[in-house]
Amino acid sequence: MKSLSNSAATIRDYDNTHFMHPWEGMAEFGSADRTISASAEGIYVYDQNGRKLIDGPGGMWCSQIGYARQDMADAIADQVMKLSYNSPWNTASAPPALLAKKLADLAPGDLNTVFFTTGGSTAVDTAIRFMHFYNNRLGRRDKKIVLSRVRAYHGSTYLSASVTGRDQGSNNLDIEKDRVRLLSDVNPNLRPKGTSLDDWCDAKLAEMEALILETGPDKIGAFIAEPILASGGVIIPPPGYHKRTLELCHKYDILYISDEVVTAFGRLGHWFASKDVFDIQPDMITCAKGITSGYLPLGACLISDRLLEPISGEGHENTFFNNGYTYSGHPVSCAAALKNIEIIENEKILEHVRAISPRFMEKLNALRDLPNVGDTRGMGLVGCVEAAVDPSDDQTRAERLQAFGNKVDQKCEELGLIVRPLGHMCVFSPPLVITEGQIDDMFAILSEAIRLVATEF
Ligand code: PLP
Repeated sequence: MKSLSNSAATIRDYDNTHFMHPWEGMAEFGSADRTISASAEGIYVYDQNGRKLIDGPGGMWCSQIGYARQDMADAIADQVMKLSYNSPWNTASAPPALLAKKLADLAPGDLNTVFFTTGGSTAVDTAIRFMHFYNNRLGRRDKKIVLSRVRAYHGSTYLSASVTGRDQGSNNLDIEKDRVRLLSDVNPNLRPKGTSLDDWCDAKLAEMEALILETGPDKIGAFIAEPILASGGVIIPPPGYHKRTLELCHKYDILYISDEVVTAFGRLGHWFASKDVFDIQPDMITCAKGITSGYLPLGACLISDRLLEPISGEGHENTFFNNGYTYSGHPVSCAAALKNIEIIENEKILEHVRAISPRFMEKLNALRDLPNVGDTRGMGLVGCVEAAVDPSDDQTRAERLQAFGNKVDQKCEELGLIVRPLGHMCVFSPPLVITEGQIDDMFAILSEAIRLVATEF
């Protein structure tokens, strides 16, 4: 076979010609000018020209322990040589068994059973399919509707995309509409002037209860919620919201699925945020991303004993949960997750996040003093800066906001920082091993970029 060249120009050409990226922009298809990541170490990514960039989004909210860890590489290589694949249908193997036990120990309450998936979307898909299975087994065949929220992101399979509240009207893909109901945006910044956070929370709860009653509690199977709406723009619901929505779920016998694909494995300074940060005990938790720090693909759906008890064991002969993937419990991915958890434990990375996040928040909130910054918000090591620009005669406000956001993204990259382009928002979730000095560097670049773009605007 002719060997393929890997010069930057060739990579760009092949990438444009043959690789359809997630959320591919069809206008730019075939001619995009993406930065080419060549290598990475710690919190830094190096591009094709050797330029060093701080990884602001931590890959895609997943790079907890940072890049190029030799111990992780060794753990992966060891497992490859020991057992590179095992069919989860036919036989058991050590890595998924050890990891399932570890996750059961780390997860709150009775979330003792783990269904391994290939990533976050398939974890969400599994949680919803499990709800279907559970209600079918209990003879409640109509109890299948999922309550979700505007601006929520839950994935890209048919079911997980259907419960995603972001961009629903604007995309061109079909979704399952009959079995989904969306609640309005919980962002406290949207509350009318003079409305307290408590009143905002009351209003959101009243809306949720009204929707449940209008739809019929016997038709609603689950409520799915990210503790913090990450891709929706790092939206933190008002205090008390999580507990009160869980209480409503209990009242109407609706399963609570906490989508911790972003928040688990240390992003908010804890293994899982549901209980430790928001004091709720969900019926299922979905997670992925940080479970392996992005070294290998893996997701998991954690299921409570309470749900499994009435639908398993004696009396349930010849009943199968017909859901599964060739790579469920992949031994190499699970070995990577075990090593990742060991590193987080040994290096006290959760404690580090808790210690360093006040600095992160202080620097983030200081950006509010800059021109054109409308809002900043965050928690743990996840944050968002939202632009605010005056509308002009020739462009609509949304277009100008988007243009401002894009320019900030570009400027940041020129100055040595990757940010996640999300329209008029910049979101951050740097590797959890980031130091105080590196946080300062990251925000220094961002402030400079905002200042420069504001002057040009
Ligand atoms: N759930 C949440 C909260 C997410 O943020 C994401 C991805 O960003 C997903 C699910 C989907 O995960 P994946 O892209 O691994 O399928």
